[in-house]
Amino acid sequence: MATEYSNLIGGEWVPAASGKTFENINPADTSEVVGVHPESGRADVVAAIDAAEAAFAEWREMGGPARGKILFKAAQILEARAAGVGRDLTREEGKTVPEGTGETLRTVELLEYYGGEARRVTGETFPSGQPNTFLYTVKEPLGVVGLITPWNFPIAIPAWKALPALVAGNTVVLKPASLAPISSYHFVNALVEAGLPAGVLNMVTGPGSAVGAEIATNPRIRAVSFTGSNATGTGLYDTVTGRNAKCQCEMGGKNPVIVLADADIDNAVTQVIAGAILSTGQKCTATSRVLVERAVADEFTDLLVGKVKAMEVGDGQREGVQVGPAVDQQQLDNILSYIEIGKAEGAEALAGGSRLTGGEYDKGFYVEPTVFGGMTRSMRIAQEEIFGPVVGVIPVASFEEAMDIANDVEFGLSASIITRDLNRTFEYINGIQAGLVHVNAQTAGAEVQVPFGGYKGSSTGTREQGNVAVDFFTQIKTVYLHFDG
Ligand code: NAD
Repeated sequence: MATEYSNLIGGEWVPAASGKTFENINPADTSEVVGVHPESGRADVVAAIDAAEAAFAEWREMGGPARGKILFKAAQILEARAAGVGRDLTREEGKTVPEGTGETLRTVELLEYYGGEARRVTGETFPSGQPNTFLYTVKEPLGVVGLITPWNFPIAIPAWKALPALVAGNTVVLKPASLAPISSYHFVNALVEAGLPAGVLNMVTGPGSAVGAEIATNPRIRAVSFTGSNATGTGLYDTVTGRNAKCQCEMGGKNPVIVLADADIDNAVTQVIAGAILSTGQKCTATSRVLVERAVADEFTDLLVGKVKAMEVGDGQREGVQVGPAVDQQQLDNILSYIEIGKAEGAEALAGGSRLTGGEYDKGFYVEPTVFGGMTRSMRIAQEEIFGPVVGVIPVASFEEAMDIANDVEFGLSASIITRDLNRTFEYINGIQAGLVHVNAQTAGAEVQVPFGGYKGSSTGTREQGNVAVDFFTQIKTVYLHFDG
């Protein structure tokens, strides 16, 4: 029997007002229903906003240090459960258990980091041009904020949005992705058990078209932080900013790795596989284009193709599996259609290129990890986000050509270069149009204490994670205090 989950509204675990539910299916074995969740509508979001509004004054008054203590306690609770939570994440999203557990432990780090940040939501003091004047700023919370999150990092993303909002004194309505809401439940529940007051954090599951739309349009929600596709994010941004509320969108990527002729080729292949294929390529920071200097292109490609062909694909709960399934039928169809587009455009699938079938593969949404040769810069597979284990290699004549191609996309989230040349490294760091810049490492992976976000079409500009994330969820009050009577 699948476990039944509830919304969290005003500290109570409740069903949708309509009583409707939806099923959460294991993408590795579609005969398993992992959870049954409230299929909420606009009325449930309104109830959550009521609860968040009611909780705001007390939460704001509580002060940062007391708020931080709750986060530290939640970190301990979640850490003790990491193995089980990681396994649940795998069962609903498909990534391997080490990846699911790793994401859970990263969420523990987020709780610890923002537990400390709660003591550092500070303003500044300034010299005043007037006598006897104390001139300073304070950062104040916005009120009720809304969070809309995707399925691919189903516990870390809700956490990295909710925690800076909470430590700054806001109250929150969270709408997790319908494909993976159990992970969010575990995060929210750890905070509840740690003593978070009722109504401070509310979670409402259900479709984007109803739950997400109410968060976007309700005037009582003063800011919306969204991560997801460009198609959804762009419309949402217009809606939210159109009613004069703040909106932050983290969206897609088309992330390049540049491999120069002097590179350690083994390391280049290792980093490209880690960025492109692990987590089934379902990361906004996934590597999807490799720009390799011609002198080493054949050696690099042969090694990459050999290693990718040898990768074990299967149920992420099985030990030894390196690549889990795509998250659902629609995502699988999307990946397969891009593979067909690539072939039709004249690229060649040197590894993979098909759906996996037979045995356990018939139970889930499995696709072969795929390496395209013969990709050119203007092909759709070189320009559009695929969000699957698919990477293309483009041989280049020079570093300059690699940089030109690297920047010739609408996205600018993450990038990497593999080289030992210090001068080229700095030219790349200065010239690459990306918010996350790696050297001799994979394009994915981010530490919690530093800003995260992209250039160009990948992001609306304000950064998540690190202490800057708090800025989005606060407003600055400037105080002129004259003390000479
Ligand atoms: P999606 O846009 O389909 O959905 C994201 C969220 O928005 C879900 O909770 C969904 O229910 C909700 N939603 C859908 N329609 C809505 C509407 N009309 N109004 C309000 N909310 C609505 O994205 P997805 O398929 O869940 O996630 C994959 C995408 O997320 C990829 O493009 C990926 O690159 C991106 N992503 C970006 C980052 C980043 O930080 N840049 C991180 C992870 C994922």
